[in-house]
Amino acid sequence: MFTDLYEIREEVGKGAFSVVKKCVSRKTKQEFAVKIITTSKLTKRDFEKLEREARVCQKLRHKNIVRLHETFDQGGCHYMLFDLITGGELFEDIVTREYYSEREASRCIQQILEAVQFCHKNDVVHRDLKPENLLLDSKRPNAAIKLADFGLAIESQGNKAEHFGFAGTPGYLSPEVIKKEKYNKPVDLWAVGVILYILLVGYPPFWEEDAKAMYEIIKEGKYSYPSPEWDTVSREVKQLIDSMLQVDPSKRITAVEALRHPWICNREKVANAVH
Ligand code: ADP
Ligand code: MG
Repeated sequence: MFTDLYEIREEVGKGAFSVVKKCVSRKTKQEFAVKIITTSKLTKRDFEKLEREARVCQKLRHKNIVRLHETFDQGGCHYMLFDLITGGELFEDIVTREYYSEREASRCIQQILEAVQFCHKNDVVHRDLKPENLLLDSKRPNAAIKLADFGLAIESQGNKAEHFGFAGTPGYLSPEVIKKEKYNKPVDLWAVGVILYILLVGYPPFWEEDAKAMYEIIKEGKYSYPSPEWDTVSREVKQLIDSMLQVDPSKRITAVEALRHPWICNREKVANAVH
């Protein structure tokens, strides 16, 4: 039983469906994070989703992806035991720092792209990329990024677009998901484009109070680079954002291509603007 093996400590995070707490192995005293989901009200479908989340996480071993060790079911709760990540969410870091320099943003996006590329290579589409699901390995500057929360991830062999259903977080949804069209891996690159835009200026490319109105501007790919804050931002990164926020998913840049973009792989020369 989980609680025989681990002592549960303070809360370290919260999601829409779960609470995440620190825990300590009673035997080795090693610290972990445990994602706890109450299962008493769950349907059979919900259980299948939990199984899928565990299956997906377990096959993804990568330096930029949070590692799942084990899962337990005990007394109306489902426990997922992960490595404890202590630097908090990228979201909180953006809020405290307001925005990143191009060099920092390039380093950050490169790690996110490495994680996404690894997911896609393993036939996993994350579907919920956003700063709340990207964790910092420590509080140190330049801490490694770890992708978390595979709760909405799907398994999809190949690149053929299919009807996987409406899922994600409003501001990060791609036009094809909003239009209820078939989709696949490109949805993740759209979300990376939104994250990159936010990193550079601290506000999102698409924003409306009303979700319906926001979906309209997303569907049209209507965003801009307002003056003065974008004036000093490099041409190269705007070009990279444009290739991610490309409305037609078949023309959108892939993770492998984005990793070869000069703003990512030739950072010292290209992503140098202080901004
Ligand atoms: P949900 O599926 O409910 O959104 P998440 O997996 O995103 O749950 O976890 C919720 C929050 O808990 C995250 O946004 C993060 O702040 C925190 N968290 C998740 N996993 C870990 C971990 N391994 N170490 C530390 N904090 C974590
Ligand atoms: Mg989450």
